[in-house]
Amino acid sequence: TDNSAQFTALQASKVAHHPCYSSSAHHQYARMHLAVAPACNLQCNYCNRKYDCSNESRPGVVSQVLTPEQAVARAVAVASVMPQLSVVGIAGPGDPLANIGRTFSTLALLREQLPDVKQCLSTNGLMLPSVTDRIIASGVDHVTVTVNAIDPDISAQIYAWLWVDGERYSGREAGEILLARQEEGVRKLTEKGILVKINSVLIPGINDRHLARVSEAVRGWGALLHNVMPLIARPEHGTVFGLNGQPEPDSAMVDAVRAECSPMMPQMAHCKQCRADAIGMLGEDRSQSLPLAEMEKQA
Ligand code: SF4
Ligand code: SF4
Repeated sequence: TDNSAQFTALQASKVAHHPCYSSSAHHQYARMHLAVAPACNLQCNYCNRKYDCSNESRPGVVSQVLTPEQAVARAVAVASVMPQLSVVGIAGPGDPLANIGRTFSTLALLREQLPDVKQCLSTNGLMLPSVTDRIIASGVDHVTVTVNAIDPDISAQIYAWLWVDGERYSGREAGEILLARQEEGVRKLTEKGILVKINSVLIPGINDRHLARVSEAVRGWGALLHNVMPLIARPEHGTVFGLNGQPEPDSAMVDAVRAECSPMMPQMAHCKQCRADAIGMLGEDRSQSLPLAEMEKQA
């Protein structure tokens, strides 16, 4: 129908300007992450909560948490010197949707002050169904959801526990809750035309043989792109996997799993596992080199 053709054209234009969604855009457009979301509502065994959310970032990185006002002032200052800035996202350092107030006030301020910049959000998906309407209303274009398993028994090996409505769950039960909420949330978003990317952390011996099934499932939920990210688990990061000596995948395994997933879903192979406060083109991070304090005073 005409509608679906228009929709596809709209999707295509959104993809073309997002450095993570389009492998050609990552040389032309810059992204910036605002670290406004410190709390989390679950515990991944590859994460040490002293560091940034490892659903999107490499472990061992600590971003300084900003208030929504500070973060948006920083985005305005960066946009003034970086015309290629096309996307501003919230990716941590905890889970953006475990910090609803801070996340949505940041998005509202961004909409007001940088109306042309696309907004993106990444989440573990636990709180997604209850806020899809707010996400859509605030004009978010892209959402990344980390789905590491679609089998609750496998999830039980990846997540230590989660919190919902003041109750703590673990094991298979936690896996079932998380999976149901991820599916409901992703379906609600994709039905409304939001572009959803799925991140999966590849954990040898736990989900390496399972990610093709994840790819197939998330395609059914309407997701657009699958990003298989290698587990990083060093003892010095103090994560459960790191301390237990869980092996990391080598690049041959990463390539093999992506190849297995690729018939189901387009694969993202250029993810850089950026910091929660990264700034610049993918593969470059100017968050540590730009004179941010100086720029914010002038903005
Ligand atoms: Fe860590 Fe992110 Fe997992 Fe929360 S969702 S435990 S911040 S990796
Ligand atoms: Fe894009 Fe990956 Fe960086 Fe997220 S972590 S902004 S998906 S390159």
